[in-house]
Amino acid sequence: MAAKPKSKMDLIVALAKRRGFVMPTSEIYGGIGSSYDYGPLGIEMKRKLADLWWREMIRKHDNIVGIDSAIIYHPKTWVASGHVDGFTDPLVDCKKCKARFREDELVKRIVKGIKGIDEAPLKNDGQNLDADHASYALIPCPKCGTKGELTAPRSFNLMFKTHIGPVEDSGDAVYLRPETAQGIYVDYPQVQTTSRLKPPFGIAQIGKAFRNEITPGNFIFRTREFEQMEMQYFIKPGSEEEAMEFWKGERLAFWRDVCGIKEENLRLHQHTKDELAHYAADAYDIEYNFPFGWDEFEGIHSRTDYDLQRHAEHSGKRKDLEYFDDQTRERYLPYIVETSAGLNRGMLAILLDAYHEDSVEGNERVVMRLDPKLAPITAGIFPLTKKDGLPELARKLQDDLRLDLDVFYDETGNIGRRYRRQDEAGTPFCITIDHQTLEDQTVTIRDRDTLEQQERPKLDQVAAVLSDKLRG
Ligand code: ATP
Repeated sequence: MAAKPKSKMDLIVALAKRRGFVMPTSEIYGGIGSSYDYGPLGIEMKRKLADLWWREMIRKHDNIVGIDSAIIYHPKTWVASGHVDGFTDPLVDCKKCKARFREDELVKRIVKGIKGIDEAPLKNDGQNLDADHASYALIPCPKCGTKGELTAPRSFNLMFKTHIGPVEDSGDAVYLRPETAQGIYVDYPQVQTTSRLKPPFGIAQIGKAFRNEITPGNFIFRTREFEQMEMQYFIKPGSEEEAMEFWKGERLAFWRDVCGIKEENLRLHQHTKDELAHYAADAYDIEYNFPFGWDEFEGIHSRTDYDLQRHAEHSGKRKDLEYFDDQTRERYLPYIVETSAGLNRGMLAILLDAYHEDSVEGNERVVMRLDPKLAPITAGIFPLTKKDGLPELARKLQDDLRLDLDVFYDETGNIGRRYRRQDEAGTPFCITIDHQTLEDQTVTIRDRDTLEQQERPKLDQVAAVLSDKLRG
């Protein structure tokens, strides 16, 4: 029987591990559910994506500045933000087989008539939710099939709690931040003053966030530890529609034009009334056509002055949080429009979009068509043979380029094999030093996608040629 063709997700997971993009963490101990490490290629690509975002959001705009806030904030931050009371996922348990499911997943599956469902493996102390949730008494457990054994949904907080100091005393309980946004809200008066910003202005940061997700999965799509790239845009009340329009366009263009994701795999989804968070006036998701369906990897949210109102109340520092416009003599709490992207989910979308299989002169190849700006290695440098002084020339070129560009020297195997290895790593250009280089100092540059061998630039022109290509 022919082997079942692998799904695109399986292919990406395997390639990511094989080539050192992303791999399960602490594998010698069997790994830990949905925690991943970024390998030598993955970290280069992740840093490049983060840098492109930083360039796009901060360097491109006079009125946006960056910060890097702590991961552990004053615990009152999370009371004010609503996370202590409201950041929960309702769960349903099977009393017979002890399997646990997320209520929203269960409902989705039941509506779609899908059998089998991801279990929610965590142990956690839940509280019963109010009665208006659906009753599951008549529904068979998706795992063991027994009817009448599913509990009413119970609520689990998704924040990771820990303690400051050696004693586990509830007075010292703190949380690992579940989002980076609140760090921006609590720092806003300081940053606005030191940077002399006037609405509309933005504060941005990239950093880790932690959520005790009940059903992590789909590789790096949903993990318990992840990185967000968030920008909070502080605006005058009444200008939120204009700001939403602007950022919807900008953010979609970033993923399409800067990161090179195919247009047909991207779309904007406006939240319905039921999907909107209680404080949000309007919200859009930027979705990618993942192998498991269209799903969000960035949110653009119109949050009104909800967050600043809450921090004003809980801190008692309303005056500090208000903006005073010295021209109109108005004092107000700014409204906020946020753009909140997942660095890891963005990586997953880009990796999936880049994956291609084709054949070159009858040889099958896997090629990652990553945008050159995001490729972990910009150029491979190959001496055609290991003798006649070619390796020395190639090493010299590597030394000339290495401080400004990511280059990789390879002299092992035939040239075709070396190309294949770089194709799989997403390397857009390969430079070959051959015997003609000895005569006239010129090299060939092979393009990963067109397979064209460029006209031969001189060795001392290679840096400029590659820089031009990176600029696109
Ligand atoms: P979801 O509905 O998928 O749980 P969310 O709506 O809670 O996501 P937000 O709180 O809006 O997500 O977070 C903004 C972005 O942060 C998401 O678009 C996503 O890219 C990223 N993100 C959120 N949770 C996770 C996670 N558990 N793993 C990886 N990335 C995440």
